[in-house]
Amino acid sequence: MLDKVVIANRGEIALRILRACKELGIKTVAVHSTADRSLKHVLLADESICVGPPSATESYLNIPRIISAAEVTDATAIHPGYGFLAENADFAEQVENSGFIFIGPTPDVIRTMGDKVAAINTMKKAGVPCVPGSDGPLGDNDAENLAIAKRIGYPVIVKAAGGGGGRGMRMVRKEADLLKSITATQTEARAAFGNPIVYMEKFLENPRHIEIQVLADGQGNAIHLGERDCSMQRRHQKVVEEAPAPGITPEIRKSIGERCAQACLEIGYRGAGTFEFLYENGEFYFIEMNTRIQVEHTITEMVTGIDLVKEQLRIAAGLPLSISQEDVVVRGYSIECRINAEDPQTFIPSPGVITRFHSPGGMGVRWDSHIYADYRVPPNYDSMIGKLITHGDTRDVAIARMQIALGELIIEGIKTNIPLHQSIMADQNFQKGGTNIHYLEKKLGIN
Ligand code: ADP
Repeated sequence: MLDKVVIANRGEIALRILRACKELGIKTVAVHSTADRSLKHVLLADESICVGPPSATESYLNIPRIISAAEVTDATAIHPGYGFLAENADFAEQVENSGFIFIGPTPDVIRTMGDKVAAINTMKKAGVPCVPGSDGPLGDNDAENLAIAKRIGYPVIVKAAGGGGGRGMRMVRKEADLLKSITATQTEARAAFGNPIVYMEKFLENPRHIEIQVLADGQGNAIHLGERDCSMQRRHQKVVEEAPAPGITPEIRKSIGERCAQACLEIGYRGAGTFEFLYENGEFYFIEMNTRIQVEHTITEMVTGIDLVKEQLRIAAGLPLSISQEDVVVRGYSIECRINAEDPQTFIPSPGVITRFHSPGGMGVRWDSHIYADYRVPPNYDSMIGKLITHGDTRDVAIARMQIALGELIIEGIKTNIPLHQSIMADQNFQKGGTNIHYLEKKLGIN
């Protein structure tokens, strides 16, 4: 097993990684910014190192400082969590070149999957179904781009090859808007991702977002752990996730899951990963692969009983997968609500001191969070402050437990989106199951 791991992240995922390390007897090093000295995992880690000021670019994204932290603490490996440097191929490469283990896939695989155009081409070759599209980056020939859109058929969506976090995409309904939308997306992509390359896809009108969790050891073994439904979104960002996805039968799961596991073997994948699809009229369309642990990995853990972060650590230590495909059994239903420090109506972030805090509990309830009473939520980072997860033998039980748990969760001093989650859980269409990616925005009166 690994001896000592640097946790190159913050908040709930840093704490999640710390817990998995402790269970496996791995020593931990927390790296943190000056704004994060009082983070729970920093206080619980074996060692901690301040890597810079609050600004993420100078701390959590500062590659030389994070690698130095591994050097001075004589660590074995670095876990990037999600966000920050998790999908930065240059970081993974520098970690390896400095003699440490990067807990994730090889830099080459991260690089390919980080370029959505390259990822789509790779998946097509591996026999994974993709959204009809431009089959490559758009050039600067207007007539050609207009012809591509005509062939795909309107509406289309122009997307940044280097995009992420739901940003850098623009839907286009009519020909007259195409060229200016391409230019606008290119400008935005250059500013946000340092890469102006864009491509085009058919805009699916009523899809659901369904994704497949995979694990591969890079030694010839790859398995899938079923799907998650992440259709409850606002601005292309997930708000509520559930596993399994309503209406996905064991046969459908097996068929798409095996295709993904097979693709892992073909691309030489190593670690935990997610194949994201849009699902419409019974068909799956690949949109991207995330080469890291995801926020919503917890619901897969709840229905399979498999600890994904421990598996990541084992794989990084060079061990073969501890489970085979036959060992993966989906049991019951799980739901996750992302609890954000934000105004539930305007969605404006609401940092500040948490004056009163009570965590929920009871059977089938899991609370993954770093917050505590008197903790100050800094204004510098993502507004997610916790994940409330429930599990039940049926979907109705999981929803009922979520409603009770949301009622028990008390966070005062800052605003949170708990009321939004209460209204989603009480929503008749959500309760029926299978709502599409536009449902939440329609419910909120956006669009
Ligand atoms: P990101 O990497 O920014 O998360 P994705 O490619 O995963 O971007 O897309 C995020 C979300 O954007 C999807 O879950 C979906 O809601 C929407 N989206 C992406 N591509 C399409 C498409 N072709 N048609 C309709 N919606 C799309």
